[in-house]
Amino acid sequence: MDIIKAPRGVRDVLPDESWKWAYVVETARKVADAFGYDEVHLPIFEHTELFSRGIGDSTDVVEKEMYTFKDRSGRSLTLRPELTASMVRCYLEHGMSKRVQPVKLWSVGPMFRYERPQKGRYRQFWQLDVEALGSGAPEVDLEIVTFAVYLFGTLGLSNLEVVVNSVGCPACRPVYREALKEYVGSNYDELCKTCQNRFERNPLRILDCKNEHCREIMKESPGMVGYLCDECSEHFQKVKEGMSLLGISYKEDKNLVRGLDYYTKTAFEVLSGELGAQNAVCGGGRYDNLAEAIGGPHVPGVGFAAGIERIVLTMEGQGCDFGRKPGIDVFVAIADDSARKAGLKLLYDIRRDKVSADMDYSGKSLSSQLKMASNKKAKLACILGSAEIQKGVVTVKDLASGLQEEVHQNSLMNHIKQYIVR
Ligand code: ATP
Ligand code: MG
Repeated sequence: MDIIKAPRGVRDVLPDESWKWAYVVETARKVADAFGYDEVHLPIFEHTELFSRGIGDSTDVVEKEMYTFKDRSGRSLTLRPELTASMVRCYLEHGMSKRVQPVKLWSVGPMFRYERPQKGRYRQFWQLDVEALGSGAPEVDLEIVTFAVYLFGTLGLSNLEVVVNSVGCPACRPVYREALKEYVGSNYDELCKTCQNRFERNPLRILDCKNEHCREIMKESPGMVGYLCDECSEHFQKVKEGMSLLGISYKEDKNLVRGLDYYTKTAFEVLSGELGAQNAVCGGGRYDNLAEAIGGPHVPGVGFAAGIERIVLTMEGQGCDFGRKPGIDVFVAIADDSARKAGLKLLYDIRRDKVSADMDYSGKSLSSQLKMASNKKAKLACILGSAEIQKGVVTVKDLASGLQEEVHQNSLMNHIKQYIVR
């Protein structure tokens, strides 16, 4: 029988990588604190309608990428492909409009999309999601962009490009849509099949096509900016002025649209040169019509989602620092069997003092235990034998220099802690 492997497009995050993830999430947590965002944990699956209505039926995500299944009672459920719709659902369900607005939330966890797996693109991937709900003020858009930029800066990322656009609102977008259709119509035959399909259903998404030829055609297409209503135009202006005020450099891209129907006004992405085709580390924008789309009252919102895998890939590519790799500081080694019980106790004492420690349980020779200590990259070995126990000492060996000394049991913890510079 073949060994069962993980399904295509999902991956195990092993210890040599997971600590880097932890660093990214811890850093995000600190930035969230600084910006006044509270963490929430949301369900991994939701009613399918939440996504089909909230993201939009004619988007890639809903049309082709969702993991949808019936549960045992026949309800249609979907593994979340993103978090924004769930965040808004959570806000509505818990009556958060009664709180001080905007309500500022963040979350991190796995998302699921049936996509063609490749570097930086998986079927289960992690997103960091940051949302501000209940305010339409352009300063909140600015705050969200600033959050992303500051987070990536804190992580040590460089050469990132912030790209912004406005996708307008239901008042001004229909006029643009027609102008776009007129332009696209004259190039219809040259578009890819998918875009020909998009032409009637959601022509704005043609702007988002990854096909080179479609991109080429769309280079000369009219931009939404020329069609914005006064309100959207003023809003966009204020966001851009804010970015200039805060020293955030950005590029305007008339063809930047989010793949999701609920976005209004600001759309932005942060791009990295390191990632090739999968170059977006983060995408976000305003979605003033999402709450209504899922059956709630009008609740404006703005937020972004960043892919953890892509952040880590970019950081690795740029040689960024991930902080301290977790590892054992102290290895307790037993010189002879009579010291085994004392060794177990010492190990537990060291651990309770919050120093990372380990030992061998398989009865290896002292020299094998010391090899194991080096393998685990321990800094110190605490060697215990009958001689040490008699004298009330521990032989402490510096595994880098090989130097060793006897340290009295009473001062052992102080000695260890002085040694281990964290
Ligand atoms: P793309 O254009 O790369 O498909 P998207 O527009 O579908 O991205 P969003 O829905 O905005 O992406 O998700 C936000 C972020 O989540 C992306 O910028 C990316 O970092 C990450 N992301 C999206 N899909 C995947 C995936 N399949 N695997 C890994 N990360 C992903
Ligand atoms: Mg996508």
